[in-house]
Amino acid sequence: MAENNENKKDGGFNFPPIGGGKPIRTQKFNGYWLYIILALCIIGFQFFNMQTDPVRTTWQEIKSKMLEKGDVEEIKVITNKGQAYVYIKPEKIENYSQLKSQGFENSSSGPHFYFNTGPQETFSKEFAEIQEKTPDAANTKIDYEQEYDGWGNIISFLLPIAFFVFIWYFLFRRLGKNGGGPGGVFNVGKSQARLFDKDTSTKVTFKDVAGLAEAKQEVEEIVSFLKSPDKYTKLGGKIPKGALLVGPPGTGKTLMAKAMAGEANVPFFSMSGSDFVEMFVGVGASRVRDLFKQAKEKAPCIIFIDEIDAIGRARGKNPNMGSNDERENTLNQLLTEMDGFETNSGVIILAATNRADILDSALLRAGRFDRQIYVDLPELKDREEIFKVHLKSLKLAGDVDIPFLAKQTPGFSGADIANVANEAALIAARKDKNEVEKQDFLDAIDRIVGGLENRSKVIKVNEKKAIAYHEAGHASVSWLLQHAHPLLKVTIVPRGKALGAAWYLPQERQITTKEQLLDQMCSILGGRAAEEITFGQISTGAQNDLERATKQAYAMVTIFGMSEKIGNLSYYDSTGQNDFSFTRPYSEKTAELIDAEVKELVENAYNRAKELLKAHQEQHKQVAELLLEREVIFSDDLEHILGKRPWNDEEEETETREEKQTTETSGENV
Ligand code: ATP
Repeated sequence: MAENNENKKDGGFNFPPIGGGKPIRTQKFNGYWLYIILALCIIGFQFFNMQTDPVRTTWQEIKSKMLEKGDVEEIKVITNKGQAYVYIKPEKIENYSQLKSQGFENSSSGPHFYFNTGPQETFSKEFAEIQEKTPDAANTKIDYEQEYDGWGNIISFLLPIAFFVFIWYFLFRRLGKNGGGPGGVFNVGKSQARLFDKDTSTKVTFKDVAGLAEAKQEVEEIVSFLKSPDKYTKLGGKIPKGALLVGPPGTGKTLMAKAMAGEANVPFFSMSGSDFVEMFVGVGASRVRDLFKQAKEKAPCIIFIDEIDAIGRARGKNPNMGSNDERENTLNQLLTEMDGFETNSGVIILAATNRADILDSALLRAGRFDRQIYVDLPELKDREEIFKVHLKSLKLAGDVDIPFLAKQTPGFSGADIANVANEAALIAARKDKNEVEKQDFLDAIDRIVGGLENRSKVIKVNEKKAIAYHEAGHASVSWLLQHAHPLLKVTIVPRGKALGAAWYLPQERQITTKEQLLDQMCSILGGRAAEEITFGQISTGAQNDLERATKQAYAMVTIFGMSEKIGNLSYYDSTGQNDFSFTRPYSEKTAELIDAEVKELVENAYNRAKELLKAHQEQHKQVAELLLEREVIFSDDLEHILGKRPWNDEEEETETREEKQTTETSGENV
């Protein structure tokens, strides 16, 4: 590992020659040198063309003091500027002190003076008269010419062009880097897909993907379609065109696709949905075309589009409602391309998303993404497998028990488990241990679920007491309810934004009954009930509990049809593609009824919690006092105070999921 990193850091250096010696620097030619050379040339040019500037004077002076004395060799009139330059005869230069002080020497060539001629006709007439009158002036040559400021003109003509060219070049180079890929702006319409083939070794294989047996089987089947299509086509079957990996974040969809690339041994084009969309109109569609063109050339092959919802979102029904035209064009092109290639052409499209519900239904129909592979959060057995994969590289102590860790991490995704393994190793290293122990894993899980322990938080004595009674309320109520999640531990050590927490090991249920939900709600409200009973006052600490209870109650009434008055109705639209999304699908009267039902559910649960606590007031007090003393107490302590729970949690084949009940939310940090 370390060696690899070193290699990466080397950048512009070659490796040292064998036998030592200094590394040889391979300096690339830098474009800025060109500018420096150009600037030096201009300065040099100016330097060699240095001349002494002529002295400004007037026509009167020239006439009376120079012309009439015969000192002027030549007058050069610049007709387009109304100026004239005067050349003094070399032998006469010394007569003019102002020339000396300007730096002219006897041998210096002119022009020595310049003046404004005024109207040219008048000037020519006066000059002719003087030449007539004064013999000394008769030899003075006069020359009329026009002067163009060559460099100045060229520069003033070229500078704006150069400026625009520079801006254009600069902008498009940046665009090229950001979006156009290698080749800059001219490649903007080309697909941004990365191609993995036999030569690009991807190290991920199906062995690195733990669990997900069904999903893996489907994907493996796709690989075998490509490897031996005849096996499937000889019976008249058609090879599927596409498969969609759907599932919550971090469940290994991308990992699965990478493994497929590693195993398939066919070219594998990988890109993300957002790579299609660029600031230029039409680029998305042209990238889709290009991707499919390249894929067809390389068939049999696989195209993988990660986060396909970036382009595959359902198209707007009303074109004026801010729909994204560019994205829709890209999607249309994708739909067309997927229709366009032959079924058995050997190109299979794999896509991944967290949000299959928002995808356009045209994309999901058979013939495009024929298969949807659901990659769910891992269950107990899968979590064990994932732990095994991620613990392989760690130095483990003998007390690390993988099935136990899997039990402690219900609801965790593969990415979370990878994070637990890494966090545990970091915690062990911080404590200068040689091996990662079980406790390090538990600390890592606590940290990931609850946030960082914050022991330095200043909490007043009476606040601490309120927190202890609040948490003891949660713990006692849930202990006394049959369907509430079994308690693991209670703590009043602040973590993240929470001032205290009760940790549960709930059953991993596939379905939940109304009784279970009501018991859960009751235990959520146990904290506030405890505050009211013990101190006769309530605090803001229960805000998070109330939020959860309210949401749960609304879900029970409007989604799960668990209210008698509302009946077996569900107002939830799982497709997310409701035409009536701007209006509620129920009347004002029903809305009032829903509110009343929700209120009643919560009130009943709250009153039940209060009753329970009143009936066990002494035990609740003991739990709270023990908590104040020890800061963390476990289910054994609760059993000691409240007695063994009469219900066997294991009977329900429990697996575990941890939840926490915070006593504080963002707005209420002390
Ligand atoms: P998202 O939808 O957010 O893109 P994803 O489902 O694509 O997430 P991945 O990027 O594949 O998730 O997974 C993230 C990391 O989690 C992987 O790099 C891997 O370390 C770990 N991981 C997830 N699932 C598994 C698994 N089944 N086996 C091993 N490791 C896994």
